[in-house]
Amino acid sequence: MITALDKDRIRLRDQARELAQGPIRARAAEVDRTEQYPWDHVDAMKDAGFLGMTIPKAYGGQSKDWLDAVLVIEEMAKTCSIAGRIAVETNMGAVSAIMAYGSEEQRKLAADMVLSGDKPAICITEPDAGSDASGMTTRADKRGNRYVLNGKKHWITGGGVSRLHLIFAKIFDEQGNFEGVGGFLAIRDETQGLEIVKREPTMGLRGIPEAEVAFNDMELPPSALIMPPRGLKKGFADLMTAYNSQRVGAGTVALGIMEGAYELALDWTEEREQFGRPINEFQGVQWRLADMSIRIAAAQALIYKAAESGKDGFPDKIMAAQAKIYTSENAIQVVNEALQLFGARGYSRNLPLERMARDVRMFTIGGGTAEVLRNVVASGLLGKKLPQTRDGYMPKIEAAE
Ligand SMILES: Cc1cc2nc3c(=O)[nH]c(=O)nc-3n(C[C@H](O)[C@H](O)[C@H](O)COP(=O)(O)OP(=O)(O)OC[C@H]3O[C@@H](n4cnc5c(N)ncnc54)[C@H](O)[C@@H]3O)c2cc1C
Repeated sequence: MITALDKDRIRLRDQARELAQGPIRARAAEVDRTEQYPWDHVDAMKDAGFLGMTIPKAYGGQSKDWLDAVLVIEEMAKTCSIAGRIAVETNMGAVSAIMAYGSEEQRKLAADMVLSGDKPAICITEPDAGSDASGMTTRADKRGNRYVLNGKKHWITGGGVSRLHLIFAKIFDEQGNFEGVGGFLAIRDETQGLEIVKREPTMGLRGIPEAEVAFNDMELPPSALIMPPRGLKKGFADLMTAYNSQRVGAGTVALGIMEGAYELALDWTEEREQFGRPINEFQGVQWRLADMSIRIAAAQALIYKAAESGKDGFPDKIMAAQAKIYTSENAIQVVNEALQLFGARGYSRNLPLERMARDVRMFTIGGGTAEVLRNVVASGLLGKKLPQTRDGYMPKIEAAE
């Protein structure tokens, strides 16, 4: 059952809408064209109190729920996907893992950085470890009073603009024994050996860099390691639990994009006349609009429900996966339908539809593909682990020097 939005939430949503429909919308096309990270959007969202809203009050945040963040992300993404993603990554994902599992010192560091405008980068994916993230080969070797990290991550959102990095690595003790997966905090430009290698030329979402990040004998003190609640052995599972918030956030960006496209199409079908009447007087157009609105309503319900499932922790794994799958797939469909309703104009770069179509395509991929998330849902429904590896398969791990 979804809680109806109370007065405070309606006020928050309206405040976000005003910002999104004003300065954020005005620059969205330029951000895409120039492929420059929108620091002005960051400042505007910071001034509005939309960065780090979910950070506890004790660390300077507002202790807001996931649903509050969702309302802001949804409004931002209606006009600018990049602003939506900045709202995700300053409230969910890496920052939420640090707030849940980090030491006092780590929480203070992350809160201060996010509240002053840094969007943390989360570094999980590697060239040879995508859907099979547990096959990562980035390693952290204990050497006396420090860890030495070596490895490579790619498709890291914010690589080159983000300063705080949460890096997933396999940890080995002094004797070379595998201890589990941990998350390390490192600050770009303050940590030797953290290198931004190259930026990907992406299809959409061009205002935020996707980068390859390498760690070359990067030394970190033990205080940089986030100790998962159940210890290193369960470290990967615990860190991925925090990632359920990010999945709800990614689904919300897709939701916002489809709503934005639908609203444009709704207005256009009233304005555009052919055969002497507005095109929304044709039944074919009416049914298309009706189907689009049904997809949006269902997607929104799934997202809000998944957000609410995390009232006392992180969103439920299955609900987060269901919401992201449904929303990301239907958003592609709805944006495509909206573009079609604009005829030739939809195909022009003068209108935002083509940008939305490029941007929205990402969400069935990043943050867990729709296929792999179906495995997550099925595994939960069936109540058993569904191993994807062949018997006897072991990921390659480079030996420490
Ligand atoms: C714009 C963007 C931003 C991203 N940001 C980040 C980030 O900030 N940090 C980060 O760590 N990563 C990030 N990623 C990486 C993303 O999480 C991975 O791309 C994703 O997990 C899939 O991995 P892959 O690309 O290696 O695809 P692969 O794992 O190679 O998959 C290829 C295809 O095989 C399918 N497949 C694989 N295994 C199975 C299976 N068991 N069952 C059925 N189908 C399967 C997949 O669904 C897919 O269709 C980002 C990606 C994109 C596109």
